[in-house]
Amino acid sequence: MFETMRPPAPDSLMEVGRLFRADMRDEKIDLGVGTYRDGEGRIKIMAAVKQAEERQLKSQMGKGYLGPGGDQLYCERLMEALFPDLPAMADRRLSFVQTPGGTGAYRLGLELAAFRSPASRLIVGAPTWPNHIPVAERAGLRSVTYRHYDPATGTVDFDAMMEAVSDARPGDLFLLHGCCHNPTGAALSPAQWAELADALLEAKLLPLIDLAYAGMARGLVEDAAGTRRLLDRLPEAIIAISCSKSFGLYSERTGMLAVMAASPSAADACRLTAETFARSLWSNPPDHGAAIVRTILGDEGMRANWLAELDAMRHRLAGIRSRLAASGLPGTEPIAAQEGLFAMMPFDSGQIAAMREKHAVYMDMSGRINIAGLNAGNIDRFLHACRDMSH
Ligand code: PMP
Repeated sequence: MFETMRPPAPDSLMEVGRLFRADMRDEKIDLGVGTYRDGEGRIKIMAAVKQAEERQLKSQMGKGYLGPGGDQLYCERLMEALFPDLPAMADRRLSFVQTPGGTGAYRLGLELAAFRSPASRLIVGAPTWPNHIPVAERAGLRSVTYRHYDPATGTVDFDAMMEAVSDARPGDLFLLHGCCHNPTGAALSPAQWAELADALLEAKLLPLIDLAYAGMARGLVEDAAGTRRLLDRLPEAIIAISCSKSFGLYSERTGMLAVMAASPSAADACRLTAETFARSLWSNPPDHGAAIVRTILGDEGMRANWLAELDAMRHRLAGIRSRLAASGLPGTEPIAAQEGLFAMMPFDSGQIAAMREKHAVYMDMSGRINIAGLNAGNIDRFLHACRDMSH
């Protein structure tokens, strides 16, 4: 049965990871997969996570199923941390499902939207996270792209975004990155978020916000502020939240779907529907990561430790951004005003291959770099390699 099957092309980032692992040079630099690395290049376990894990180990009494909706207290605490005193929360217009990572949340949100309105399409700014469109296709949604990023200025092509809003049909899903855009780092200003909220309302579109990097740019609540603006202005929204980066819980598959509806009864219907779909996708979510997040957010000391470490992470990223922007290399100047883990280097595929082969620097084929892979021990070598490409 499988003899004639041709596997689909792997995600380019997966391929970069494979090439990196096969490279035996000690000095190789990994700017591929989007994980935060500390100043020594390590993916460390955050101290608050360790603390919560120790408590969890002592107190956990059983490993029964959580149920398809998962741990609701985890969901409520995470939501409250990102969006304090949200009126929709008090009005009981929100429903939550704990999911395996942000990817699970995104998939489940799409399933719900497709069920609600099978003809709706996903409007996506390009470039975007390479998984966004394939996951939408698996969920049976057609996608329509528009130009999200202007490489000449290193900023969001806001005119193109607004045009995409007005070209969409009522009921379409409008995909947004809550903060720290992957792959470009280009961010909307508060005024642009406000204008976008008005336009989405007017066009009757349903925003689907992918919030995977909260805390990596300006602070936890600050990074959720654009999403907050939409929640305050619109009657309905879907949010896919990931704890992979903000808590460093990549392998623990920790995420949640939040759906805001116009009434408590509609919110209940969303939760029941999403739970039914979750049951057929993964049945029950994994417990460990969400239990850690619930524990950290429920304990004042652990929460303060976690926030301090998250602050240190974003300050380190901001430092690398300033350093890259000050390098004088072509195309790097906007990097200082961008945010999060990623930036685009203006290299073509030949230059990206040469960076790999000649300098052992690994980046995505699109030119995206994970700036967290840079540190005091390798940034000079990286800049030297870039200069070599620019000659
Ligand atoms: N959205 C974006 C924009 C991402 O970059 C990622 C992770 N690379 C995710 C969602 C999903 O993260 P998770 O590992 O939690 O599924």
